[in-house]
Amino acid sequence: MNDQKLKFDILVIGSGAGGALAAYGLQKQGFNVCMLEKGPWAKQNLKEVRAFTHYYKDQGLVGAFGNSFIGVPTGEVVGGTTKINSGTCFDTPKEIVDTWQKHYKMNIAYDELSPHFKTLRELLHISPVPTENMAKGNLFFQKGIEALGYKNHFPLHRAAKACTGSGRCCFICPKDAKQSTDVSIIPNFLKEGGTLFSQTEVTGIEEQKEGVRITCKTSALQAKKLIISAGSLSTPILIRKNKLGTHWKKAGLGLTIHPASKVFGEFLEPVYGWRGVPQALGFKHPNFPTLSFEGVFTPPALSGLVMPLEGKRLRGWLEKYDHVGSFGVMLKDTNTGWVRAFPGIGPLLHYSLHPNDFKNLIEGLRFIGLSYLASGAKRILLPISGIQNEFESFEALKQFNFSKMRPSQLYSMGFHPLGTCGMGRVVDSHLKLIGSNHIYVCDGSVVPTSLGVNPQITIMALALRLSNRFSKNS
Ligand SMILES: Cc1cc2nc3c(=O)[nH]c(=O)nc-3n(C[C@H](O)[C@H](O)[C@H](O)COP(=O)(O)OP(=O)(O)OC[C@H]3O[C@@H](n4cnc5c(N)ncnc54)[C@H](O)[C@@H]3O)c2cc1C
Repeated sequence: MNDQKLKFDILVIGSGAGGALAAYGLQKQGFNVCMLEKGPWAKQNLKEVRAFTHYYKDQGLVGAFGNSFIGVPTGEVVGGTTKINSGTCFDTPKEIVDTWQKHYKMNIAYDELSPHFKTLRELLHISPVPTENMAKGNLFFQKGIEALGYKNHFPLHRAAKACTGSGRCCFICPKDAKQSTDVSIIPNFLKEGGTLFSQTEVTGIEEQKEGVRITCKTSALQAKKLIISAGSLSTPILIRKNKLGTHWKKAGLGLTIHPASKVFGEFLEPVYGWRGVPQALGFKHPNFPTLSFEGVFTPPALSGLVMPLEGKRLRGWLEKYDHVGSFGVMLKDTNTGWVRAFPGIGPLLHYSLHPNDFKNLIEGLRFIGLSYLASGAKRILLPISGIQNEFESFEALKQFNFSKMRPSQLYSMGFHPLGTCGMGRVVDSHLKLIGSNHIYVCDGSVVPTSLGVNPQITIMALALRLSNRFSKNS
């Protein structure tokens, strides 16, 4: 796109969960829609490390500072973070939408979202992971929790078609089996006559009397309406920088991230954790309602980064990596943080783990460790530093006192940044930017509270709800 002045009905910034679904829904209704995406189309054949450095925002090195450092990765590629996610799908829990309605006085009802869950199940080919496709780290966890007397594990539902378990969902599916938006939605958007400019970063946004004007490096585009779907880290920065709406000073607050971590187990038999679907099994522990247990696996080439080890001990684990499985836990968080622009660098995030959340997360990790030991693991490795982190004995782990541990000793990630332009704070219940006539926000940033489930379906359902509303009221 060079030196052009283009006009559309609607411009959409970002091609991820929110942007692609909103753009597709609107184009299908006959609007002339243009999507602008900062990242490139992904190449399928890159090795995991290169996929990580090419398609994760800022080479995957974004993180939040507070009482610990928590990595907060997002995608910067056509398809947004759906291109580098695990594909797991959960409908928005009804009690969460009820909370938005009752406690936050939002004008949104569960029944407005539920028809879209059904549509998304079809569009994204959502189905449970068959046992034979599960990576073995999941099956060892299942065996372990069954040995401890828990039966209520369940296969996760995923957006995948003809998946053969290539084991690298988060590093670009090599067969396009995972139904990220570039595979499932954007081709249909283009078929309907929509326009997509990739490798096009929007820098300026100006609201005018009759519409909106946006600027990229070499071009200016105009439209009657604009939807900002740049994700929870970039959308608030665009809103603040361009002073959009009347509540722009609140953009960036309210950040929740679903802090998450994982436990490694070394088994006597080969695990080959890179074979099969890494995030395949789920479990809810009755004593820890804010925790969600889900499978996870880090490819060998990146594993050294996520293990709290060095020297000989790290080498010992890496040499045995074909016998290593892992399982994760994620938390519905209590605290909120913020995101701001750090000039010349990128987003600056602040987030501190709430003491109770920290305790629960540690107990969740202990539970995974115990389950792995109960299923026959030779030893397990907890994601903590500065104290004992390796255990071979079930009893020793069960009795271990973690009470002196500080959050800064925990290795954790927040895969689901949400809430930085929350409904009721920066946008209204219909996702219109408060104080604006022509600008909407539709991505993870509008989700006003921690969700407790993987968020892509919630974001997509909100996008379909928004696009339906345009047809009625435009
Ligand atoms: C490793 C990982 C695994 C995950 N697994 C799951 C999972 O299994 N299930 C699930 O539900 N969720 C998962 N998630 C989270 C989920 O994918 C995201 O919450 C969701 O995709 C966010 O959607 P979004 O529309 O808010 O933003 P995104 O999908 O991140 O899209 C935003 C897009 O905007 C673009 N953009 C930003 N700024 C600009 C600009 N100025 N100009 C133009 N374009 C711009 C970005 O490049 C990006 O492509 C995972 C996340 C990660 C990191």
